[in-house]
Amino acid sequence: MKTVEQASLGEARGVDAKQQSPSELLAGDVRSYALFLDCDGTLLDIAPTPNEVRVPPGLVELLVRISKGLGGALAVLTGRQLAEIDTLLTPAKLVGAGVHGAELRTVSGGAIARVASTLPNSLVEEVMRRTQKLPGIIAEPKGPGLAVHYRLAPHLKNALETELRGLLTQYADALVLCHGRKLFEIVPAGHSKGTALETIWALPGFSGRRPIMIGDDIGDVPAFLAARRLGGTGLRVAGEQFGHQDVELQSPARVIAWLGYLAERLDG
Ligand SMILES: [Mg+2]
Repeated sequence: MKTVEQASLGEARGVDAKQQSPSELLAGDVRSYALFLDCDGTLLDIAPTPNEVRVPPGLVELLVRISKGLGGALAVLTGRQLAEIDTLLTPAKLVGAGVHGAELRTVSGGAIARVASTLPNSLVEEVMRRTQKLPGIIAEPKGPGLAVHYRLAPHLKNALETELRGLLTQYADALVLCHGRKLFEIVPAGHSKGTALETIWALPGFSGRRPIMIGDDIGDVPAFLAARRLGGTGLRVAGEQFGHQDVELQSPARVIAWLGYLAERLDG
């Protein structure tokens, strides 16, 4: 039996088989695009811990320039809280969705709305209590979600998953466990980067445009599929989830280079 992840990966590959390459997209009607960007592993190289990521010089200015070139139709879709992204990309406060669609900012510079309710305190406390006993495991509460990183202790992955699935049985309808790059995430059921893309795409300035989603992880697959449904495309970035032979962009550095070309086309 296929796992959800295997099914999603297969679906993403099937979807992407028909899609345009990054260079074909650059040759297209770039002003009609709406750009959706994951952050970690897509714009930023993965670091040993989330706090250690480095924002490349010039990235923020590039994103702001592209946003202007697209009439504001640029959004970040991240598993992080949007406030964290604001700190990383200061002074920009981009349109976007955080915690896999559980947070939303619909206007650049505007307030962050919480779409889903905060996780129950009792669950957060129990996850913190149990993970503190597992050396190298980092639990990171994020309001409506919670990430548990095992990057520093990969041998504990299976034990951790068993613990978390056990804890979630009593929230079966409300919360789901997602597997990302060296982490598990507890997120509200019914929210994903796919729902976030659809919500943002319906906003003035985005609707009617051709959505382009760029991401590197399983959590980005619903957004690739949503982009495709809306007449757009998904570009996968190589990393721990997608192999080099399966992707359209080989690294965050290549994503940024592609964004640079896009900015030039928009300016020209
Ligand atoms: Mg990512």
